[in-house]
Formats: sequence, C-alpha cells, structure tokens
Amino acid sequence: MKKIIIAIDGPAASGKSTTARLVSRKLNYIYVDTGAMYRAVTFIFLENGIDPEKVTPAEVADLLSKFPVSLKIMDSVQHVFIADRDVSEEIRLPEVTRNVSAVAAIPSVRKEMVKLQQAMGLEKGLVMDGRDIGTIVFPSAELKVFMIADPAARAKRRQLEMEGKGQQVDFDSLLKEIEHRDFLDSNREDSPLKQAEDAITLDTSNLTIDQQVDWIVSRAEGLLVTGNGSQV
Ligand code: C5P
Repeated sequence: MKKIIIAIDGPAASGKSTTARLVSRKLNYIYVDTGAMYRAVTFIFLENGIDPEKVTPAEVADLLSKFPVSLKIMDSVQHVFIADRDVSEEIRLPEVTRNVSAVAAIPSVRKEMVKLQQAMGLEKGLVMDGRDIGTIVFPSAELKVFMIADPAARAKRRQLEMEGKGQQVDFDSLLKEIEHRDFLDSNREDSPLKQAEDAITLDTSNLTIDQQVDWIVSRAEGLLVTGNGSQV
C-alpha cells in the first residue's frame, strides 16, 4: 500500500491541528502535533526554572535526557509525556503558551525535537503539523500544505475553543498573543515559520473544518492514485 507524508504548516490557531487530526483519521495515518512537543519542553523549562535566554546546549541535552518527551496514541488521541508523566493538559496552560516561542527558538531544543520527528516518519503514513515540517523536518514530503487565516478569524476560533473548555478569555488579548507568537516564530533565526516553495496555500478564513479536511484528503488521494507516494 502506498503511503505519503503530509506536512501541514502555518501560523498559530490556523486550524492545523484539528484539520490534521481529521485528515489522519480519514486516511488511517498517524497524526503528530509537533507544537505539543515544544510545549512539553517549555513545561520542563518552567518547572525547573530554566531561563531560555541563558541555557547552554549541554544543559538542554542534560534536561532532555532526564525528562524525555514522547508522544503516545491512546484511544486515537495523541498524549504527550515527559518521562512517564502525561502532561497533555498542562501544556495548554497560558503560561506555557506565553513562553513556548522563546523555548522553540533555541537551536539545541529544535535539533532534538526534529530528530524525534524525523524518526516518526520513517514508515510514512503520517500527517504532521507545525511550523517547519515542510521546510526542515520533511523537505521531501509528498504533500505540503501551508494553512493561513486572517488573524481575527484565528483569534475568534481560539476563543470559542477555549470557551468550550470553560475558560473565559478576552478576544483582544488573544489576538495580541497570537500575533506576537507569529512574529517571534517567523523572525527567529533557526527554522522560522515560512512557507515551503512547493507548499500549497490553504486559506481557511471562510472554510469549515469539513471543507479543509476534504481539500487535503482529495489532494492526498490524487497523489496516491498518480503513484507519487512511496511504496511501503
Ligand atoms: O502549534 P502550537 O501553537 O501548539 O505550537 C506552539 C509553539 O511551538 C509555536 O508557537 C512555535 O513557537 C513552536 N513550534 C515550532 N515548530 C513547530 C511546531 C511548533 O517552533 N514545528
């Protein structure tokens, strides 16, 4: 059976995770949310009082060997672990969100995470979302999608999602946080958020989740039919 790698990149709250998860279910592929990995590392930094501005590569290596980050699929849902502790809920806390871009900008952190991510793609059959999947992690992914949406639409979606979890958040501060995070992610030196030359843009501002999912699945199926996926 032919299998491909689908790389989905884009700015914060552009709907990547929800879309990628549903695409993976339709194709019976593995889904990997790489943002969750950087969030887990940020959680380790916060719990251990590590300053991202001052940390050395040796300290990062030491920290990640003491507190290894891993992903496990449980009941079809991705859970994030630090050693044997499930931190899937904690990594969504506002304090983690506020600090994640600074931690994700550290080259030694990225190097370790990219290594783990590339190992997950060895057998293909993978949908991975993040900021550098099509450019750095899997530059030869068969299908690359760059998802964008107007910042106000993204903030509104994130607000509804958080309200659904019982968290009240102010729209304006959410919008500011999203724009600030995009700025930091797009302007860092190592692997900034940017569209791969061969990625197809998907503007989700006026699309439903189902439309986004169908758009990607039909392109993936097109590649599988034309034989551009690899035989595994
Ligand atoms: O996708 P999510 O918004 O959860 O990602 C959290 C943060 O992790 C991003 O703002 C970015 O700083 C970092 N990230 C990254 N590279 C990725 C995925 C996420 O730098 N591939």
